[in-house]
Amino acid sequence: LSGTVLVPAAAASATPLYKNPYAPVPIRVNDLMARMTLDDKIGQMTEGERGSATPAQAAAARLGSVLSGGGSVPTPNTPAGWADMIDAYQKAATSTGLGIPIIYGADAVHGHNNVYGATVFPHNIGLGAANDPGLVKRIGEVTADETASTGVKWAFAPCLCVARDDRWGRTYESYGEIPRNAVENSVIVEGLQGRDLGAPTSVLATAKHFIGDGGTTGGVDQGNTQISLDELRRIHLPPFRAAVDRGVGSVMISFNSWNGVKDHGNKFLITDLLKGELGFTGFVISDWNGIDQIDGQQGFTAAEVKQAVNAGMDMVMVPYDYQKFIDTLRAEVLNGDIPMSRIDDANRRILTKKFELGLFEHPYTDRSLQKDFGSPAHHALARQAVRESQVLLKNDGVLPLAKKNSKIFVAGKNANDMGNQAGGWTLTWQGQSGERVIPGTTILDGIKAGAGKGTVVTYDREGDGIDGSYRVAVAVVGETPYAEGQGDRPGGVVLDAEDTALLAKLKATGVPLVVVTVSGRPVDISAQLPSIRGLVAAWLPGSEGAGVADVLYGDYNPTGRLSFTWPKSASQQPINAGDGKQGLFPYGYGLSYRRR
Ligand code: BGC
Repeated sequence: LSGTVLVPAAAASATPLYKNPYAPVPIRVNDLMARMTLDDKIGQMTEGERGSATPAQAAAARLGSVLSGGGSVPTPNTPAGWADMIDAYQKAATSTGLGIPIIYGADAVHGHNNVYGATVFPHNIGLGAANDPGLVKRIGEVTADETASTGVKWAFAPCLCVARDDRWGRTYESYGEIPRNAVENSVIVEGLQGRDLGAPTSVLATAKHFIGDGGTTGGVDQGNTQISLDELRRIHLPPFRAAVDRGVGSVMISFNSWNGVKDHGNKFLITDLLKGELGFTGFVISDWNGIDQIDGQQGFTAAEVKQAVNAGMDMVMVPYDYQKFIDTLRAEVLNGDIPMSRIDDANRRILTKKFELGLFEHPYTDRSLQKDFGSPAHHALARQAVRESQVLLKNDGVLPLAKKNSKIFVAGKNANDMGNQAGGWTLTWQGQSGERVIPGTTILDGIKAGAGKGTVVTYDREGDGIDGSYRVAVAVVGETPYAEGQGDRPGGVVLDAEDTALLAKLKATGVPLVVVTVSGRPVDISAQLPSIRGLVAAWLPGSEGAGVADVLYGDYNPTGRLSFTWPKSASQQPINAGDGKQGLFPYGYGLSYRRR
């Protein structure tokens, strides 16, 4: 009997094979596909956005997936609010003839960051500095746990870009400027997907953005990556190879062009390189309206649909125009421009993942997982990640801060702002400034909580009220939230007027100055460096500002090392390890405290 599928007789007559949880997945997929119409199959290849498709509309269009674009959240924006929303989509989808569940996707890129109360981890640039893949795998597990608890079974993460020019607005989504950082940290895929994709706590991961997103000329978001195939293979391919080897279930295509040709329509990249050479067996998803850009004109045409799907795109993210996409794709199949074999291949890939995720058996949210959402244990892991991601760049002995009988003045726009320290992709696409926009601890909270007996901590954002009686001034400066192209800084990443004025003011007092940069990338600090006695790069730490204070007080002896060369000036970009340029601090740099 070995190899035979045993089905109880009564069930066999009533239940189609694809609904039998004991049947092997390939057999279930075949059985289901034999029952599907062309419209069913085209629907599976289509992803709409929650704002433009109600559950009833999504089911009527047979959508295979629905997503929350950055910041497109239900009311209330809580785990229960998300679960209610997604369960409504599933109820509608599973009530159709074949009852194929949808897969719901969201950008859980540093924790389940769209949901209020989620544990928000440092952005990738900080995790790259931490150099601790074991930690990153654990972060993947916790992120999956919180994400799955809301009904989202598909995370558009990790970003495996190798950012080669810090002027790019997505530099903080990069683990480092050389492929090794992303290769090692691609282990987050195993954390997100778990040992078994069918476990309640597992979510499907997405390696993005394939390929060359971090290599565009001038660091222009969605720009042109003008490099040889050899360099593409050497710099940008290894993280994807690693993710595929770790079993990543989906790959998102990048908005950029490679030598003038948009990746979204590039058959060599998608079919030959990714599916062929790397042996990727999951499914390929486009980026947001990504097929629109193939011809450089607004909106998408039949020619673009044909080019993308024939290039190997399995599912297309068409947030608003899903009905037009469906109609166009149907016409292209019926007129023979897109072969049915391509449609079947895409469906086989998508449905395999849906079966493996257990969506047919368990389409609804496992709300029992919500007890761990934002739990103390999850926050503790995030705080550990923050500690490990701090890079001590300069220290003439002013650090660690004395805990007892001291007088500490804290200043700067990023000292007491949860939104600023969490960065983009937090609650909303662009992120938002605000002292308490998400729960957690600010850096100031951490400094206050860590102060010992006899220590006074005074805070003023602008540095007003400081005098010579303070033992140390801690200025927390840097960037404010942005995402994608809105963070492009063609003129270089420099301190703003508020920061430079603050640092000048503090310098004039003669009080020993410690600077903490909260930023998505190195900021130009050369002019101020001589007057700075201690410098810490905190990156975008997320919800646990206390982890920064742990390093400032020496409760954690810093271990972080730069995964990006820190330039002397903005005009040095692009600057990367091994290119012979001399930065202010080299790749791999980072100090620790001497044992006392
Ligand atoms: C971004 C992707 C993201 C997608 C969905 C796009 O603009 O490039 O990284 O996954 O939006 O929100």
